[in-house]
Amino acid sequence: YATGEQQDVVVIGGGPGGYVAAIKGAQLGLKVTCVEGRGSLGGTCLNVGCIPSKALLNSSHMYYEADKHFKAYGVTVGSLGYDWAQMQKQKDDAVSGLTKGIEGLFKKNKVEYVKGWGTIKGPNEVEVSLLDGGSTTLSAKNILIATGSEVTPLKGVPVDEERIVSSTGALSLYGVPKTMVVIGGGYIGLEMGSVYQRLGAQVTVVEFADHIVPTMDGEIRKAFQRSLTKQGMKFKLGTKVNSATRKGDSVVLEVEPAKGGDKSTMEVDVVLVSAGRRPYLTGLGLDSVGITPNKRGQIEVDSHFRTSVPSIYAIGDCIPGPMLAHKAEEDGVAAVEIMAGKAGHVNYNTVPSIVYTHPEVASVGLTEEEAKAQGLDYKTGKFAFMANSRARAVQDTEGMVKFISDKKTDKILGAWIMGPNAGELIPECVLAMEYGACTEDIARACHGHPTLSEAIKEAAMATVDKPIHS
Ligand code: FAD
Repeated sequence: YATGEQQDVVVIGGGPGGYVAAIKGAQLGLKVTCVEGRGSLGGTCLNVGCIPSKALLNSSHMYYEADKHFKAYGVTVGSLGYDWAQMQKQKDDAVSGLTKGIEGLFKKNKVEYVKGWGTIKGPNEVEVSLLDGGSTTLSAKNILIATGSEVTPLKGVPVDEERIVSSTGALSLYGVPKTMVVIGGGYIGLEMGSVYQRLGAQVTVVEFADHIVPTMDGEIRKAFQRSLTKQGMKFKLGTKVNSATRKGDSVVLEVEPAKGGDKSTMEVDVVLVSAGRRPYLTGLGLDSVGITPNKRGQIEVDSHFRTSVPSIYAIGDCIPGPMLAHKAEEDGVAAVEIMAGKAGHVNYNTVPSIVYTHPEVASVGLTEEEAKAQGLDYKTGKFAFMANSRARAVQDTEGMVKFISDKKTDKILGAWIMGPNAGELIPECVLAMEYGACTEDIARACHGHPTLSEAIKEAAMATVDKPIHS
């Protein structure tokens, strides 16, 4: 490879953690090489995660709106249909445009891109098995592990990516099945389930716990599940899947109550296994440098993203913390800032989470249950979108904003938004928390009218005292 000279940092993995770290490192004046084995940059997020799922969520949402709501808006369409192949193409075009865009950014920022699988050979050495054959050895002052995650397999449910699919297969199914079971009620399963539900599939979510999305505030979760149920999604909670067996063009599932009881079977067209993700460390060569993953298979790091080997750092989905693209990016920036001798830090208390269903659910900080469990003296304030003028104007009124703040100081501990565009609204709350704001600060800030964001202001007013419009 071109340089042959020692790099300041060799990044292993070109996902949102790795590619952002590589660009930022180069911008800070470091000599950076990024090694990626999948043949395109952007990692899970761009290739088989965030981006393609949002493309399909958008297409299916538009179809659903046209089918269910256009009439009420006074919009008439002739005969309505969808073109699955075109939806797939639009998704694939979005993905390839973005992944190629990162290659362009690498060139612009002078990041060297090595296509191949990297193996750590020593504290300062990475061997790459090149995609076009052969191998090369890179010498690095620092190594940054950003190898991300993979789908956690489920015992008894062998994925064939045709009828028994992971999220990856679910992004490019043969078409819209009539019936689908989603195993696991986390955000990925609910998002992909929503896509097919909107296009006419009967989707049943089978979840081991007695509730969906375990990290969600209980009150919001209940409202959210009610909304998905209203859209036609079915839920089998407290239910364990023992096995899934392919039977021609369908799949037979054996399930039983999680607490024990009679077994039963379900036959559906497609099963989506969405029971979590785990760090991907295969072939990375951690043994050669004495790094042992923890019980959850994650690489432990200190507050500076350093592993037990001082020259080796790790970020993103392969270390503890929320497995989200924006968290991986923040980790990546902080890690290279530290390598460049600057202060880098990520506040995990203010990493937002978003479920891109409709309505969306976005949050930052604590749930009410967590505040209670931590023994905090807190208060809450809520405001329903039903009382927000913009939501009423566009007839999209499901959901609410909820704040949890410290009873004495009024400092924001958590913010929850279930509603239209919640993901675009949550940054206000993130910023407020980053600045140590109180709900009163938000309540006193002028918000544009008529906007959905006024529901945030009114929920803040409700936390301090009373909102105007309810
Ligand atoms: P990854 O994106 O997994 O990237 C790691 C890269 O490293 C991969 O490209 C891999 O090929 C490469 N690699 C691994 N080992 C080696 C090696 N030895 N040598 C060379 N290359 C290697 N997150 C959000 O924030 N918002 C969302 O809306 C969202 N939606 C999602 C939807 C789905 C269906 C899925 C599956 C995930 C979604 N996520 C979402 C999660 C998000 O994709 C991950 O949190 C994010 O991609 C993690 O980034 P990363 O850089 O740590 O790892």
